Amino acid sequence: MKLGIRKKVIDININTKIVKVDPGNLDYNIIKEAADIINRGGTVVFPTETVYGIGADALNDEAVDKIFTAKGRPQDNPLIVHIGDFHDLYDLVEEVPEKAKILAEKFWPGPLTIILNKKDILSDKITAGLDTVAIRLPANNIALAIIRESKKPIAAPSANTSGRPSPTEASHVIEDLMGKVDMIIDGGKTYIGLESTVLDMTSSVPMILRPGGVTREDIVEVLGECSYDPAIIRSEEKIVPKSPGQKYRHYSPKAKVILYKGSVENIVKRINIDYEKYISLGLKPGIMSTVQTEKSYEGKTTICLGDRTKPLTISSNLFKELRDFDHMGVDVILAEAIDEKGIGKAILNRLGKAASEVIEV
Ligand code: AMP
Ligand code: MG
Repeated sequence: MKLGIRKKVIDININTKIVKVDPGNLDYNIIKEAADIINRGGTVVFPTETVYGIGADALNDEAVDKIFTAKGRPQDNPLIVHIGDFHDLYDLVEEVPEKAKILAEKFWPGPLTIILNKKDILSDKITAGLDTVAIRLPANNIALAIIRESKKPIAAPSANTSGRPSPTEASHVIEDLMGKVDMIIDGGKTYIGLESTVLDMTSSVPMILRPGGVTREDIVEVLGECSYDPAIIRSEEKIVPKSPGQKYRHYSPKAKVILYKGSVENIVKRINIDYEKYISLGLKPGIMSTVQTEKSYEGKTTICLGDRTKPLTISSNLFKELRDFDHMGVDVILAEAIDEKGIGKAILNRLGKAASEVIEV
């Protein structure tokens, strides 16, 4: 126990360098500096199209350890390895099945992580002792440039303290990891705002272990079939998820989150009632509304997430708004569920994990 505490103090880097980079006009001096840090076993936070990631050399156990320490991440939760070119995949996995090639062709660079049988070059640190590894080719110029310049596969989980909402802006990273990493690259707001889809390609039918920007429908369109890990569709049945990370409560702001599911009309009615209930208890509630409903909560503390008919507006704001409610000192967040179609599935998955209570109305 004591050793753990001492180690943490030694690992803290009071000289975190924060730099701004325009993803449309890369400053190669900064990219080179970031790649150097990776090659020397340090940690660099950079944006991807999903969320910000904390990156380290995936082939250097000591460097990977720094990720776990900075995040306070449980050691049994494996990391995603990011590559800069499709062919880098061959260095890391035993075999690249035809279906994986088809998916990579269609969705890479992009928010799809595929799980394949790993080669021995990858240590148990990365895979948490599993025989498989999760790999992704991200769609962000800054991320790609750093990976290519370093010539290393880069382990890069979301750059937040474990359990907190994932960062979609550099300010969120600074809030959680300042002093705990070597460099933070501010490349603006991330586009999708939710972590990648995790797809297990080692089963006969590809299986989604975590929903994300690439949807089941997208995968079925190119492969003809794709299933969900039963644990992510029937969480109430307490089935153990295939993805170790899915068993943890996640994405939690400091406030308690209550998720309301049902017809929009019933949701609005019940949230208005519960809002008053929390006020009378002396608590400060906040409502997570949508463009379609915000007028129904006049005079109440509300943040509008986005448009129900354009779920990308909602996914890109979700984690930021969870943090914003904390900054506003809200005690309880009353969140509307949205339609489970497309990326809506991933939005509900994250809201479900952030919530300590789900109310069906
Ligand atoms: P993060 O890096 O925070 O985006 O989380 C990565 C997610 O991928 C977690 O839910 C991990 O448990 C999951 N994951 C990573 N590697 C594997 C693997 N080999 N098998 C199953 N799930 C994995
Ligand atoms: Mg994460």
